[in-house]
Amino acid sequence: MYKPVLYIVIPCYNEEKVLPITSKLFLNKLYALIKMEKISENSRILFVNDGSRDKTWNIICDLSEKDCHYKGISQSRNRGHQNAVLAGLMEAKDCCDITISIDCDGQDDINAMDEMVEEYLRGNEIVYGVRKERKTDSFFKRFTAEGFYKLLNWMGAEVVYNHADYRLMSRRALEEFAKFKEVNLYLRGLVPLVGFRSSIVYYDRAERIAGESHYPLKKMLALAFDGITSLSIKPIRMITSLGSIVAIVSLFCIIWAVVRKITGHTVAGWTSVISILCFVSGIQLLSLGIIGEYIGKIYMETKHRPRYIISERTEDYSKTGNETKRK
Ligand code: UDP
Ligand code: MG
Repeated sequence: MYKPVLYIVIPCYNEEKVLPITSKLFLNKLYALIKMEKISENSRILFVNDGSRDKTWNIICDLSEKDCHYKGISQSRNRGHQNAVLAGLMEAKDCCDITISIDCDGQDDINAMDEMVEEYLRGNEIVYGVRKERKTDSFFKRFTAEGFYKLLNWMGAEVVYNHADYRLMSRRALEEFAKFKEVNLYLRGLVPLVGFRSSIVYYDRAERIAGESHYPLKKMLALAFDGITSLSIKPIRMITSLGSIVAIVSLFCIIWAVVRKITGHTVAGWTSVISILCFVSGIQLLSLGIIGEYIGKIYMETKHRPRYIISERTEDYSKTGNETKRK
């Protein structure tokens, strides 16, 4: 029976308080999956130390000495959650069949992994972990997060509602994902761009087991801003629309000013000042929008995203392809 090699990728930043607790939970889960013959014996837990300033890396080193199923890599400095996840996924890509990325604080229910692997075995290349309800979050976090998902989708970025970075990706999906060379990372928005057959697994999100969240409001806003600006050029388009509206309104203002002048309701000089003001501001905003449109195009071009990803070929076609290659 086919048993995929699973790598569980876990970013860790100053997590000395939770790591001793959650590392055991992850290992138990890995053993359970191996025992159920769902995954290969060669599966591993890969910790990514994101330049922690506490004992996180020492703990990871100790763990990997004790059990060969633990592995660790360390980033040269703190680069942020998204980069840490990417580093782990890219490290794992060549030695495994599937990866599951998950936070190390025990908030995401590890039992959802069973279903994720099942979904993979059913032919899905990407499985998104989606939290059922946000009961454990404060009203503020729930409200801002939900508003943000809606905003992002409206901006034209495809994000899976209530999905954080708990997801399964197959090796094939990762290989295609590796072709996305952009530096401003917002994984939740990028992964859906890879495509392939995907599905969703629902889970309950718990409270952090220990330690504190590394996402205070400031970082959350930064991530949200990153998400919008790295996935969408709609904000630029909005300037163009605004410019057009201002230009049209200005035109009416000018007509109105001239009418006032003709009917003799003005003091000398007023009409010309108003007309010039309206004309110039309309033109300026419209020009900015047009320049912005080009900058948006340049921005998208500089990302060098793959222009297409092929998921299947009919057998006959690939055979002839191979034969031609061989000749
Ligand atoms: N994390 C990281 N680098 C950072 C901040 C966070 O690798 O600069 C990791 C952290 O160790 C955790 C995950 O990212 O495993 C999510 O962070 P956290 O739990 O603090 O965020 P929250 O769940 O509160 O959004
Ligand atoms: Mg957390």
